[in-house]
Amino acid sequence: MQKPLAREDFAERVQELYRERILFLGSRGIERLIVSPFDSHHFVTYPLQEKAKEVREEELFEGFRDGAINLYVGMPFCNYICTFCPYVTFLSKDGSEGQYLEMVRKEIRLQAARLKGSKVVSIYVGGGTPTTLSPQMLGSLLLEVRGSFDIEEGAEITVEGSPETLSSKEGIEKLKLLKSYGVNRLSFGVQTFNEDILRGENRRHTAQQAREAAEKAKEAGIGNINIDLIPGLRGHTFEIWQSDVEHALELGVPSLTAYPYTVHPQRTPKAFENYQKDPATYPDVFEFAAMYNWLQQFLKTEDFRENPPWWFTKGGFEYKQQMKKWGENGMLVGLGVDAYSWLNNWQYWNHSTLREYGAALEAGRLPVAGGAHLPLQRDRAIRHLLFGIRTGIERAEFQRKYGLLPKEIFTKEFEVLSKVGLVDLSHDQIELTDLGKMFSDEVIFYLYRNLETP
Ligand code: SF4
Repeated sequence: MQKPLAREDFAERVQELYRERILFLGSRGIERLIVSPFDSHHFVTYPLQEKAKEVREEELFEGFRDGAINLYVGMPFCNYICTFCPYVTFLSKDGSEGQYLEMVRKEIRLQAARLKGSKVVSIYVGGGTPTTLSPQMLGSLLLEVRGSFDIEEGAEITVEGSPETLSSKEGIEKLKLLKSYGVNRLSFGVQTFNEDILRGENRRHTAQQAREAAEKAKEAGIGNINIDLIPGLRGHTFEIWQSDVEHALELGVPSLTAYPYTVHPQRTPKAFENYQKDPATYPDVFEFAAMYNWLQQFLKTEDFRENPPWWFTKGGFEYKQQMKKWGENGMLVGLGVDAYSWLNNWQYWNHSTLREYGAALEAGRLPVAGGAHLPLQRDRAIRHLLFGIRTGIERAEFQRKYGLLPKEIFTKEFEVLSKVGLVDLSHDQIELTDLGKMFSDEVIFYLYRNLETP
């Protein structure tokens, strides 16, 4: 493997390339958001969830016939709760997963009946950590999904896991079972290979288990493996980050994600408290920029491509659900507690407590907590721009779809973003630059702040 550039070279490069611009961006209110203003780990809904209104289930499907659906199924159980976890998650306990599984199976059947005639083009079983389920439970979940929906031949089917649930003897059994149910992509969180940092974030697996999980997955015949890493963790240094990325590549995986570390006062109280107490133990914006810029440059030399931001893939193993849901503004149906959906021009959310989620299903209703309707072409165009900027917006295609050019919506904003080097307007496609990818949520937030929200 080619030796990554030394820290000094990059520190210098960042000084040259980015220091002035990062300071300038800060002066325009575009700053790296370690303390996230979003409810999730990044910006995933338009409008934001707090704008939701009550919605009747019938409204969601009014006039809906069929279409291409991306499916998300959430299993919110884990063996431990990481300090930085922004999701609704519960500790795995005997019995509770089984009860939850029954609820999700009800939701699957209800949704499948309403989506009759639609084709499911991608599936993501996430969480939580779905591989904390026993092999029997995992099998019954996948069987329910496969038996209920019309799934496109060759559709991407991803299951999320964690190293300690896939490296044991039972883990190997689960991997074989996943393969037998057509799972063709596996994504698991490693975050770092540094044991001290892992413990500091309450992760209960070792670097060795991460290596074993990747090996066993390949042996089971699942070659499309994604490893999640997080740049900017407490105690992360440039050298540790370099070694994290090197270790991940040594496993021969074709996909890596690098979610910037964020904390949130309510969603990640422990990480927020740690950060408030001692922000100096976290990489600052310049150190983060050096780490991320090094990652971008290094992975280019390894033939990886970053699209959307934070996702690096090679050899045609593009992460299709992301490309469809952001790049094409494609429909997404989220199943499970706290899942969000974009369907039939509705952005809507499921209940975030198990009690409300279960009560709705018990009453034979979809567990929808609220939503926002975007009946106007312009609002849908805004949504597409906000999220599609992650993968690039082809101007002519956008105009054909919405009768508007992107610059008719964000005239001044695109000029500013281009001037500060975050967006490249010089081609047929509007794209984030490498710096723009590093700050992609901040770009979206900047566009969002300049809007009249519905
Ligand atoms: S393993 Fe993932 S989902 Fe579970 S607590 Fe940690 S970050 Fe959250």
